Amino acid sequence: RVKDQGKNNFAIYAPLTSDPSYEKLALENDLRKALQKGEFIVHYQPKINIVEGTLSGFEALVRWKNSTRGLVSPGTFIPVAEETGLIVPIGAFVMKEAARQMVAWRQAGLPEVPIAVNLSTRQFLQSNLVQSVESILKETGLPPHLLELEITESMTIDLERSIEILAKLKKLGVKISIDDFGTGYSSLHYLQQLPIDRLKIDQSFVQNITVNENHAILVATIINMAKNLQLSVTAEGVETEKQATYLQKQKCEEVQGYFFSRPLSAEEIEGKYRELIEDVKNWKIG
Ligand code: C2E
Ligand code: MG
Ligand code: MG
Ligand code: MG
Repeated sequence: RVKDQGKNNFAIYAPLTSDPSYEKLALENDLRKALQKGEFIVHYQPKINIVEGTLSGFEALVRWKNSTRGLVSPGTFIPVAEETGLIVPIGAFVMKEAARQMVAWRQAGLPEVPIAVNLSTRQFLQSNLVQSVESILKETGLPPHLLELEITESMTIDLERSIEILAKLKKLGVKISIDDFGTGYSSLHYLQQLPIDRLKIDQSFVQNITVNENHAILVATIINMAKNLQLSVTAEGVETEKQATYLQKQKCEEVQGYFFSRPLSAEEIEGKYRELIEDVKNWKIG
């Protein structure tokens, strides 16, 4: 399919959809160019406080807008970006863009709420992460307490190193969340030692709370455990009113999911935020 014509000349004769190794190489090449061409965009998913009935934050979620591939979801390209190290500059772009957007919204009079940004393993373990976060905060003027960094349990396997990195980040004043909580291996011993602020309950548990009693109990247990450890808690992947009502009854403060809003472009957020703020007022307790 790909024929070596000698001297680094490669010619492509046909669409190569059935060759996975070629596909990966093509993806990697396109990803490299995407950074230079500015093809990455950030979408924002609202997070709702269902005790207060307020918009409590956003999560920044990267998308790749490519002329031939269309809008590519992170599930498709993050693993390749992670493998190639491209995730480091992509991640820095997302963090800076999200921080810039929050400052712009704040100046435009939108509610001042925190922005959550996902970190990948490579980014987390990269030696100048703390420096990079610090310079993004300085450049954009985002107050540190309005930035939440999401890591996953699997990144903290090396407990001592994780504590060290997280302590430095916390010193900057940013917040730390554990994403997809419940799918990894964290023991209580781990959780207690990590300087974190929030647990985000994985959507696989949340989506089953109204059909599977075990999952309902599990979610309630995580909420209580978080409270006992004095951590904030967010339920991810809330898709139905029934799920939201259960979570509200369990006093899970923060929720995020399609039931309230999908991730939206910055323009869509600007168009819809008043409506959203009115909608979520109905979720105030009492
Ligand atoms: P995540 O951080 O756990 O983000 C939540 C994912 O669940 C998002 O998918 C979001 O669109 C989706 N979601 C939200 N509400 C619902 C719901 O009610 N139902 C369902 N079924 N899904 C819901 P998305 O945007 O495709 O991102 C997937 C994953 O890719 C993220 O999972 C995160 O791990 C990773 N990711 C996204 N953006 C970045 C980034 O900038 N950097 C890094 N390192 N990873 C990112
Ligand atoms: Mg996340
Ligand atoms: Mg998650
Ligand atoms: Mg995740």
